[in-house]
Amino acid sequence: MPFSSLGLSPALIRAVQAKAYVAPTPIQQAAIPPALLGNDVLGSAQTGSGKTAAFALPLLEKLAKTTLFSPRKTLALVLAPTRELAIQIGDEIRSLAQHLPQAIKVSTVFGGVSINPQMMGLRGGTDVLVATPGRLLDLIDHNALSLAHVSTLVLDEADRLLDLGFEQELERILGLLPAQRQSLFFSATFPPAVQTLARTMLKDPVRVDV
Ligand code: AMP
Repeated sequence: MPFSSLGLSPALIRAVQAKAYVAPTPIQQAAIPPALLGNDVLGSAQTGSGKTAAFALPLLEKLAKTTLFSPRKTLALVLAPTRELAIQIGDEIRSLAQHLPQAIKVSTVFGGVSINPQMMGLRGGTDVLVATPGRLLDLIDHNALSLAHVSTLVLDEADRLLDLGFEQELERILGLLPAQRQSLFFSATFPPAVQTLARTMLKDPVRVDV
């Protein structure tokens, strides 16, 4: 199955070609079409499966069809367990967005480093925010951003987020998000705590197991 059959716009097809992705991986084939239709997705996917593009491409397709706010407001939020993963995700989203007609700002924030440069980076707002949960809440407590306009939420590596003890942070973040939103949820494993989190976060999700 070629990328061109998934329903993505030409600018995103160009971006995957520029990255030399020849064909979609199984998780991309399974997750992209339902996500493009606006469904919530519950994806079972391992690291290295191509799951980043599986959520990044539909997220960008939706943004490309949206009039961005000016100043920018966070429309898409991606939560990741670690700094390394957040950076990788931010880089992948940025490179996939490069041919879109409207410039999309992607910001990445994580703990363990000074908060001030991240606050400066968020001045003027951002369109896509990739964050680890604790630092995201710190930034909200510093009034550096609001989640009131988020229309797409991605939880990546949900099992690791819970293993690292982010349950309470996730609950608080979920409480700050609009109820009306699309949520994409990925985890490598589904122990009971992950299933409970998925139930609280998702509405009639399409299950994608690869
Ligand atoms: P991920 O699971 O998202 O971390 O992706 C794992 C690796 O696969 C990354 O280096 C991606 O750049 C690469 N990748 C993602 N999608 C594709 C694809 N369709 N074809 C080839 N490589 C890919």
